[in-house]
Amino acid sequence: MNKREFLKYSTFLIGGTMIGTQAEAAMPFFTTGRGKRKRSGRLTLRFTPYTLQLKHVFTLATSSRTTTPVVLTEIEYDGVTGYGEASMPPYLGESHESVSAFLSRLDLAQFSDPFMLVDILEYVENLMPGNPAAKASVDIALHDLIGKLVGEPFYRLFGLNPARAPLTSFTIGLDTPEVIRQKVLEAEPYKLLKVKLGRDNDREMIEVIRSLTDKPLCADVNQGWKDRNHALEMAWWLKEKGVVFLEQPMPKEMKDDNAWLSSESPIPIIGDEAVRNIPELMSNRDVYSGINIKLMKCGGMNNAMKMINIARAFGMKVMIGCMTETSCAISAAAQLSPLVDWCDLDGNLLISNDPFMGLNVVDGKVALPDKPGLGITKI
Ligand code: MG
Repeated sequence: MNKREFLKYSTFLIGGTMIGTQAEAAMPFFTTGRGKRKRSGRLTLRFTPYTLQLKHVFTLATSSRTTTPVVLTEIEYDGVTGYGEASMPPYLGESHESVSAFLSRLDLAQFSDPFMLVDILEYVENLMPGNPAAKASVDIALHDLIGKLVGEPFYRLFGLNPARAPLTSFTIGLDTPEVIRQKVLEAEPYKLLKVKLGRDNDREMIEVIRSLTDKPLCADVNQGWKDRNHALEMAWWLKEKGVVFLEQPMPKEMKDDNAWLSSESPIPIIGDEAVRNIPELMSNRDVYSGINIKLMKCGGMNNAMKMINIARAFGMKVMIGCMTETSCAISAAAQLSPLVDWCDLDGNLLISNDPFMGLNVVDGKVALPDKPGLGITKI
């Protein structure tokens, strides 16, 4: 029951029109109370491999592709189903096979209470090392399930104000000037554009975009630059061109160079490939000025929340990003968006066969739906 329904029923009760079992039947959650509510059953996990079709060829500094493998998960409890997802861009090493193998080994039926989230996620984490996307698919489905059982959006259970969601960016990939023009037009509802750099036409890309729009930009080099002096020169030039931060300019192995750049750069330097999870955040806290958290790198919403808190304690900037994903995983990441400086949650817009409907972008910001769980609907 949501707040509006509760108020409606409260009015009925104040008016004295509902008594006894009538009221109880109408208000199964509130009349029986938290401690008394009857819940029964076991957690049942189901999963389906699925292939996302990309609208455009997706080109990074190091690769191109037209599909992304994902695995869609469902966790059912007490007649309620939570949805989750693992997305596996090939460069991260997980696949349909590895995620299916991991999920097949899980025995969630041993748990009779989905609210024991810490216990369940600890079991999932300790089953096997690695497999962050597979683990995220369980974590996301559990968060959706719990929100639905309580009847509240998960961001409300986190205590977050949806009005504080920051601007979210729309990605313009590496492409010809004609395609870039087209993509800038597509990005009309967005107030922050993300530009992929790291090839020999970086300045040309920025100039083409600047000839079309004066919106603020962020730039992601995906480890494409190899020389720190070039990186610093570009950082100054990009600042002049209205770029607000620079993501993973050099290979993650070049720690000293990335740290030097972070200390000299006029705009924040954000670690992405270098900072996948909590241990990598700890070992890179003096290397970058901020981090890009992705559920598929860190293992889900629970770990993402921990990373946000750790990064803030170190005084770092935080963005939350995504892979090419359905609206399920995107909506999961968006639940945390009021806590971060920037969102990069456009992965669902890059695919043509999204099986879910989720959040919208309004006025350049993620509009978190006032719906239980992750706020998604299966199409
Ligand atoms: Mg990145």
